[in-house]
Amino acid sequence: MTERSEAQDALNAQFRAFLETHAFPMEREFLSRPFRELVPQLAELRAKVKEAKLWAPHLPKALGGLGLSLPEFAEVSAVLGESPIGHYLLNCNAPDIGNQELLHAHGTEAQRSQWFIPLARGEIRSCFAMTEPEFAGSNPVWMDTQAVRDGDDYVITGHKWFTSSAEGAAFAIVMAVTDPMAAPHKRASQIIVPMDAKGVVFVRNIPVMGEGGSDYASHAELRFESVRVPVTNRIGDEGAGFALAQERLGPGRIHHCMRWLGICERAFRLMVQRAATRELSPGEPLGRQQGVQHWIAECRAEMDAARLLVLDVAHRIEREGSHATRDGISMIKFHVAGVLQRVLDRAIQVHGALGMTDDTPLAYWYRHERGARIYDGPDEVHKSAVARRILAAAGMDVGRKTEDGRKRR
Ligand SMILES: Cc1cc2nc3c(=O)[nH]c(=O)nc-3n(C[C@H](O)[C@H](O)[C@H](O)COP(=O)(O)OP(=O)(O)OC[C@H]3O[C@@H](n4cnc5c(N)ncnc54)[C@H](O)[C@@H]3O)c2cc1C
Repeated sequence: MTERSEAQDALNAQFRAFLETHAFPMEREFLSRPFRELVPQLAELRAKVKEAKLWAPHLPKALGGLGLSLPEFAEVSAVLGESPIGHYLLNCNAPDIGNQELLHAHGTEAQRSQWFIPLARGEIRSCFAMTEPEFAGSNPVWMDTQAVRDGDDYVITGHKWFTSSAEGAAFAIVMAVTDPMAAPHKRASQIIVPMDAKGVVFVRNIPVMGEGGSDYASHAELRFESVRVPVTNRIGDEGAGFALAQERLGPGRIHHCMRWLGICERAFRLMVQRAATRELSPGEPLGRQQGVQHWIAECRAEMDAARLLVLDVAHRIEREGSHATRDGISMIKFHVAGVLQRVLDRAIQVHGALGMTDDTPLAYWYRHERGARIYDGPDEVHKSAVARRILAAAGMDVGRKTEDGRKRR
């Protein structure tokens, strides 16, 4: 079921109107100043979002959200993706949205009142620290960070990087090994670590494609030097870290893919507008060139097909759960990331030198969304996962996993 209802169209129109009035006019500033300087202005806009009753569309109404289903939120996410600050303004930005969903589903009462409720209200931010510089992030069960039990505490020691939005976050959810002798998928747990805990060392924000980053718009390198937190900070059972991460990633990939399709829509609009108005000579618009016409047609077809695929997977997650839909989740992850790269590349090409500037959001997205083919599992991992299951179903021996979780050749 991928037809949009009238109610969904009306909701999308409300979000679009909010972006047009409040977010698009702020983009020049967003593209030219460090994020941390814009935080007070953005806080005012977030207050307006609450007044307009558009806050946290993914959260239940009882928690101050709109109570949308996954497919309904997916549609909204595509609208919000059209602005680089859309999701942030509505408090449904990664990594907070994933942490909210995790704590909502698996947090204890104490964790919910201390961390989840302020996060849902937008009073604090959070981050998710899993990837380590010394270990291949594409093998999620292989890591070095340890959480050693000492009485009623864990003592956490490790090195993480690409912890998005760590600067200014109130807490991190840290993936750490709690039982090195357990089976690979049961070794690690997810533990809440306040960012002001003794031993949390903020090493730096890692520059990405030439941008240093700040506050929410940043990716940090962190060290955990004998950080002591109570065992009650663990989310779920000991050893459930990997399973919880998998659960988080199903809906998370729908959020990302629809946000990417929102970026595509905006880039496409800009490309079409430029092709229709930029004259190569008097009375000869760029859009008369056959090559440009083909790009426009290819983009439209790729975006529409991708949208249908993502919405179909969103409906299947709702009906059958993330595990049963894992092939679909993998397919949208690499497929839509590819569509995004092609649409942005063509849009920049049509803009010529203007496409390289920050006078449009195209260059910003081109820099930051190159990562779409890497984060949440690189393309190759998802392609192999899908192909291995198809080949296994055809009777081929696809090999066993080694002790550390990697595939044997
Ligand atoms: C913008 C951005 C934001 C991020 N945010 C976070 C965050 O908030 N928290 C967090 O914990 N992490 C985050 N990450 C890290 C991200 O999850 C990892 O980069 C990712 O899991 C890949 O791990 P890696 O970088 O160690 O690459 P590696 O595992 O070293 O892989 C390198 C390359 O090897 C290839 N490759 C890997 N496995 C296979 C395979 N099986 N078959 C074929 N080829 C393969 C792929 O091309 C891959 O890109 C972020 C990354 C980026 C770029």
